[in-house]
Amino acid sequence: MSPYITVIGTGYLGATHAACMAELGFRVLGVDVDQQKLAKLAAGELPFYEPELAELVARHVASGRLSFTDSYEHAAEVGDVHFLCVGTPQQPNTDGADLSYLNAAADRLAPGLQRPCLVVGKSTVPVGTADALTRRIQAAAPAGTGVEVAWNPEFLREGYAVADTLAPDRLVFGVQSPGGERALRDVYASLLAEGTPVVTTDVRTAELIKASANSFLATKISFINAIAELCEAAGADVVKLAEALRYDPRIGDRFLSPGVGFGGGCLPKDIRALLARANELGVGSALRFLDDADRTNLRARRRVVDLARQECGGSFAGRRVGVLGAAFKPNSDDIRDSPALAVAAAIQAAGAEIAVYDPQANDNARKHFPTMDIALSAVDAARGAHVLLHLTEWPEFAGADPAEFAAVAAERRIVDGRNTLDPARWQAAGWRFRAPGRPQLD
Ligand code: NAD
Repeated sequence: MSPYITVIGTGYLGATHAACMAELGFRVLGVDVDQQKLAKLAAGELPFYEPELAELVARHVASGRLSFTDSYEHAAEVGDVHFLCVGTPQQPNTDGADLSYLNAAADRLAPGLQRPCLVVGKSTVPVGTADALTRRIQAAAPAGTGVEVAWNPEFLREGYAVADTLAPDRLVFGVQSPGGERALRDVYASLLAEGTPVVTTDVRTAELIKASANSFLATKISFINAIAELCEAAGADVVKLAEALRYDPRIGDRFLSPGVGFGGGCLPKDIRALLARANELGVGSALRFLDDADRTNLRARRRVVDLARQECGGSFAGRRVGVLGAAFKPNSDDIRDSPALAVAAAIQAAGAEIAVYDPQANDNARKHFPTMDIALSAVDAARGAHVLLHLTEWPEFAGADPAEFAAVAAERRIVDGRNTLDPARWQAAGWRFRAPGRPQLD
């Protein structure tokens, strides 16, 4: 009999994991504390935007294979494998990860456990968390239950979450016994049969694999943004430079796009949490470059604000700025630590009127930034603008006709904060084109 799976925390990660586990043929119970989210999911609807996921949730809710609850008692009773997918945000006043959601989930699940089961962490956590959770769960579970904790970190990308879950680059199984590994191999049997590479290791290494992967990616983006600063000072072109670097397979062609930098609910908090944990373990100095990566990233946002200010003639007072993009990346409605909205908010605070448009994140932007004008189309965001900023690289923006924007803007000045627009097209329509790391192109 195949294991009954529970997925605790049904946000971007958990809802995707739950639906994909149902797609692989398992009975799945999603558990959350957010009643609104649960009601939507139980009705077969998605409480956020993620391509392909809505259809998967609807299909498996309808088939009865996927259901949702707020009852930990029910989850503890039916589950053979419990995936922990709750958030691990940055703590309010330190760089470390806030593990309170994870601890709360463990505290509510453990007392109801009645038979041997595997609790599998998927959230991104500081090294040592699985060890602490093992002690916590074993202390709270009824004696002799036979519960084991494993770590199976998640590498999915928002915007490609379903494809990444059903066809991952690799799986990581951090386990404490051969039985733990066997249970994970059962869950992922169909992906393993397709040849998905798997790295089996101890829980601490598994935790660090995820933190290291994100730290590497963040560092790569900050590297090219640091080079962008150098290019600006030297009058060189970072876009051409990056194009040439990408041909080197040792460097690789991804995560080398100069611009406004990284954001979202993962990379910024994950590099800070890794450094904070390294400091606790007395090896912070070895990872000091992560602090530089973080600073370079925040400076990338400020440099886009500076470019916009220059285009406004040195001051934002009385100026109108149109912003294309609110999500932290395209194909998502996630605005957590979004560079686009951080830049927009800084410019608004400096005295400009702001109009933002995003193909999917308008509702989230309106909720979290109620004083910003949220436009109903990209062209509307440009209406009356003295400068237009391109801050989330949606395909819709790259394909847009610069002449349509020219017809409504107060001035034809654009800052491409993502370095993905075609300067020649915009210049042909009369726009002055600026972008971080590039010489002024007109
Ligand atoms: P999220 O905020 O979208 O989802 C977290 C969910 O947990 C929410 O629905 C929340 O209501 C729920 N929750 C909080 N406390 C709970 C509790 N006690 N019991 C049950 N549910 C509870 O966050 P996310 O983006 O899905 O991230 C979750 C984890 O996955 C984080 O550690 C993150 O770093 C990691 N991760 C995220 C991604 C991604 O692309 N979003 C990718 C890989 C890893």
